[in-house]
Amino acid sequence: MDTTKIILKSGKDQSLRRLHPWVFSGAIKKIYGYPKEGNLVEIYSNQDEFLALGHYQIGSIAVRVLSFTEKLLPHDFYDTAILNAYTLRKNTNVISEQTNCYRLIHAEGDFLPGLIIDIYDKTAVVQMHSVGMFCDREKIFSALKNVLGESIDCIYNKSENTLPFKAETGAKDGCVMGNRLKDTALENGIKFSVNWQEGQKTGFFLDQRENRRLVEQYSKGRNVLNMFCYTGGFSVYAMRGGAKLVHSVDSSAKAIDLTNENIQLNFANDPRHEAFAVDAFSYLDNMDETYDLIILDPPAFAKHNNVLANALQGYKKLNAKALRKIKKGGILFTFSCSQVVSKENFRKSVFAACANTGRKARILHQVSQPIDHPINMYHPEGEYLKGLVLQID
Ligand code: SAH
Repeated sequence: MDTTKIILKSGKDQSLRRLHPWVFSGAIKKIYGYPKEGNLVEIYSNQDEFLALGHYQIGSIAVRVLSFTEKLLPHDFYDTAILNAYTLRKNTNVISEQTNCYRLIHAEGDFLPGLIIDIYDKTAVVQMHSVGMFCDREKIFSALKNVLGESIDCIYNKSENTLPFKAETGAKDGCVMGNRLKDTALENGIKFSVNWQEGQKTGFFLDQRENRRLVEQYSKGRNVLNMFCYTGGFSVYAMRGGAKLVHSVDSSAKAIDLTNENIQLNFANDPRHEAFAVDAFSYLDNMDETYDLIILDPPAFAKHNNVLANALQGYKKLNAKALRKIKKGGILFTFSCSQVVSKENFRKSVFAACANTGRKARILHQVSQPIDHPINMYHPEGEYLKGLVLQID
């Protein structure tokens, strides 16, 4: 099959020459042929110079780039990419006897735009966000088997709700190898029950691994409040760190069940922990001033730039509520996972919250996402998780 050729408008080749992996639809001058969503397309400058090869898609991002050098995708393209990603995780000790769950493929961060693969012990959970990746799924599954060999015996495809709805791919969630729907995974020696079939995203938030460890280091003797706890990751680490008490809050009753299950797995019947299924904002309004370590890890307040201002107000309000009640000498861990909220904007919101309450505040750590969520230098949009650890007096 001949690949479709796309010609860019004059001057619109610059971002590709700087290795940014997206082509916006507004940059396109002419399309030769009739590519369907998911097809491979070649991209050329206005002077007819080859620039990149990628997956075509309908929408404001028209192409997601797979290669800046090759006009044809080599037969072992996914094998090579997955092996490189696996080697990075191995060489940086992300995978160890203490940790068998990690992100193997972080989309643009591993040069595979539109593809997420998370590993939970012997299961790979694959999430496709582009039709191109969905079309290549058999190659991806076989590359996973080739690279990971016997270290996995189950592949679960969870793309039904992440693929563009209008593309009508007919994708159905389910196992494509093996038949496991949940399992217990190990993170820094802590056991977590992960249910990829029913859980949010691929079942667990792997991106907070390092920050959870930091919470553990600050928890000794403290009263800890874990807001937006989901599966209770921060709570279990705080328990291991020697917290005096740990309270977990999430508006979802299911999340509270998962949190209790994970506490039970590691600290059975430990009276230090309690979990509450309530709204975070009303909990903060009504709580006593008992906590000296508070974690705020809310869902993304902004998914698009047009709601950025509202999101920044949201972070300011939320942080101010916690700041008003935290004990003197307390530690606040505050996060944003909104891609459209920059590090600077987030810090300004937290600054405004501090200023509103008049509390003395110092930044102890500025944290981000871990090694298995790498940021492609040429794709700054991949830097989505930011956090501040503050000492409040
Ligand atoms: N900190 C978690 C991930 C948080 S995901 C971890 O380490 O795994 C965000 C969570 O916020 C979800 O579980 C969602 O149910 C919860 N949530 C969303 N809106 C909320 C609200 N208004 N009050 C309390 N929890 C909320």
